[in-house]
Amino acid sequence: MERYIREISVEICPEPSAAHLPTPDLWDTVLAQLDDVAERLNLDPGIHILLRRPERELTVSVPVIMDDGQIQVFTGYRVQHSSARGPCKGGIRYHPDVNLREVRALAALMTWKCAVVGIPYGGAKGGVQCDPSQLSEEELCRLTRRFTAAILPILGPRRDIPAPDVNTNAQVMAWIADTVSMLEGKAVMEIVTGKPIPLGGSLGRKEATGRGVAIVTAELLKRKRRRLADTTVAVQGYGNVGSAAATILHEMGCKIVAVSDISGGLYNPAGLDIPDINRHVANHPQHLLEGYGAPGVDKITNEELLTSKVDVLIPAALEHQIRADNAADIQARMIIEGANGPTTREADEILQDRGIIVVPDILANAGGVVVSYFEWVQDLQCFFWDEEEVNRNLKKVMTRAFAEVWDFSQAQGVPLRLGAYMLAVSRVADAVRSRGIFP
Ligand code: NAD
Repeated sequence: MERYIREISVEICPEPSAAHLPTPDLWDTVLAQLDDVAERLNLDPGIHILLRRPERELTVSVPVIMDDGQIQVFTGYRVQHSSARGPCKGGIRYHPDVNLREVRALAALMTWKCAVVGIPYGGAKGGVQCDPSQLSEEELCRLTRRFTAAILPILGPRRDIPAPDVNTNAQVMAWIADTVSMLEGKAVMEIVTGKPIPLGGSLGRKEATGRGVAIVTAELLKRKRRRLADTTVAVQGYGNVGSAAATILHEMGCKIVAVSDISGGLYNPAGLDIPDINRHVANHPQHLLEGYGAPGVDKITNEELLTSKVDVLIPAALEHQIRADNAADIQARMIIEGANGPTTREADEILQDRGIIVVPDILANAGGVVVSYFEWVQDLQCFFWDEEEVNRNLKKVMTRAFAEVWDFSQAQGVPLRLGAYMLAVSRVADAVRSRGIFP
């Protein structure tokens, strides 16, 4: 063993640098939004300062023996922004751009998201700076297990419960749950959500975010006295969120006229055959829309999709797709943010001036964390629900949250985004106030 350790050479990965990242970055944006909301709510200055700072930040070194025998040392983070309303909750992402400020911002957004839909969690986020496409399955497994061991002191089913995020999935969650269970000598499956079903995952979790997007779209149409059958929809991004949202809205009776992914877009003003497209995507080696054809279907670019003539636009791909340079050309009257942060602050002002209704990400895409909450509840009770019960409860939570944000925003005379943030921050502030400051 000693010889083995002497023989392997040590390679340190470059220190993470935020130098190439844009300013203002996501953390600046999150703080600016909080400051704005604090002023409007006339928030106690002490609570405002408290919410501007995460409760706890952990930076860890993650040494991994690579397949070639070399050691690489990665950097990982877990940030807990607030536990005022309950255990912290948030995903873990693996990406070369992961850095502390981004993780901190995403943790704060989780605090607001859980508060706006009224589930008893605070907010957290984690990540490892790495490029998972360059790692073998075994390297990914070792990285996950070592990262888990490194952040375990602050995790726990009543402390902080991770979930999948960018480039992590049910398999990564299974490795985390197994690592914790081995280290603690007992089954601790409730340490993560988004697990495979046989390990205590929840039915309905995979489609939950897209289903939530479809539910809030239907609720908005109801408020606008629009019939689902008379509504045309464009969906950007045909991955987990976009494809589920398109499929469920199609089942509800909407006409999905445009969809797109990284390979380009499809458009048919008479409505796309979504089940047929889903069959194509399921059979495509990279699960893309690429190569799909049918009578009446035209190829369009992603930019054309964003500005196509539709009633509802659902950006469900990446951040910052709706910007100052294309916001004036958007023809949809309603935007439902399936992705996180798809609209820049400047674009948001343009959309607002043009009277376009935007359902913000912290409300529109909260279906995933809501069903994660259901998964945790089922794990703690060791009693599992059927899919119908999961979907029924998701509908109840999303419908209630939408109504609360809608009514609050109408009463305050503010757009839905501001209304959602005001409601979320005031709920977190109430929790801080009623718990008091320890000791
Ligand atoms: P995904 O990787 O499954 O799908 C992303 C889709 O976007 C793919 O179809 C991809 O081809 C497409 N895409 C990538 N680059 C594109 C480009 N330049 N133009 C057009 N399409 C492009 O990811 P996902 O889980 O569906 O997540 C999508 C968004 O929703 C992300 O912002 C994510 O943070 C957010 N979100 C996801 C969940 C969830 O439960 N999966 C929950 C909340 C928020």
